[in-house]
Amino acid sequence: MVKIAISGILGRMGRTIARLADEDPNVEIVAGIENPDCAHSHSTVGEILGKELNAPIVSDLSEVIDKFDVLIEFSNSTEAALSHLRLLAADKNKKGMAIGTTGFSQDELNEIKELAKDVPVVLAPNMSIGVNLLFKLVQEAARALKDKGYDIEVVEMHHRFKKDAPSGTAVKLVDILKEETGIQNVVYGRHGDYPEGRPKDEIAVFALRGGDVVGEHTVIFAGLGERIELTHKAGSRDIFAKGAIEAAKWVKDKPAGLYDMMDVLDLK
Ligand code: NAD
Repeated sequence: MVKIAISGILGRMGRTIARLADEDPNVEIVAGIENPDCAHSHSTVGEILGKELNAPIVSDLSEVIDKFDVLIEFSNSTEAALSHLRLLAADKNKKGMAIGTTGFSQDELNEIKELAKDVPVVLAPNMSIGVNLLFKLVQEAARALKDKGYDIEVVEMHHRFKKDAPSGTAVKLVDILKEETGIQNVVYGRHGDYPEGRPKDEIAVFALRGGDVVGEHTVIFAGLGERIELTHKAGSRDIFAKGAIEAAKWVKDKPAGLYDMMDVLDLK
């Protein structure tokens, strides 16, 4: 049994995680965290689920820190996520954390890495099984096609409400591509004249936004005469929520350290 608290509980992901965690006999929701402006609209997680469940919704994580084993972080604020991790690192009990929040700056990522020396943390911009398999397939394709004349482009599309661009998943795909190909020059969109055509030593990223698209990512390897496209399409937020719950179960009682979903899903 793992006792969880969910940060960003009133958001799209927070509500989905609450619904699925409530159906899981091995998980107990003990608290929800929200920003101070929203926290007062619901006083318990039960009010979100429409049932009797007396897990409080608070805006200050320290009020409930003794209740949970693992904090699932899906607030849309990198600042909030980081302040929650700082609290866990300062706590003697070394609770675990599964972070789904995206949009961290390099400085923030460096701090997460440092704090994870004291706390077991799963950090994953995309917690779905399919996307993590996509990461692995992209890694293999990039390795196989390296220096063989294939241009690489990354295209992603998300709903109109998304706050960061490109998506955290696209950033991770680019990191994998940079690592495997050695290409470091990344451009975001294209506009203007290209008298020499497309430079071969660049990776281009395109972030489309609109409607209610849950999340789509394609990596294109385009050569002369053929093209390989690896695509993942998310049809429901449930896939991320299920992954987040799996991550919470996995990270409980793990030694301190920074892990990702490839560790949780044993895809390394
Ligand atoms: P959302 O806007 O629907 O919900 C975010 C919630 O966080 C809101 O209810 C907001 O009030 C709350 N929040 C803001 N400040 C807070 C604070 N200080 N403490 C606690 N809660 C706070 O967004 P969403 O679609 O649910 O996505 C949330 C985050 O998760 C985004 O960063 C998104 O990119 C990311 N995401 C990750 C994955 C993944 O698999 N890792 C999947 C989907 C979304």
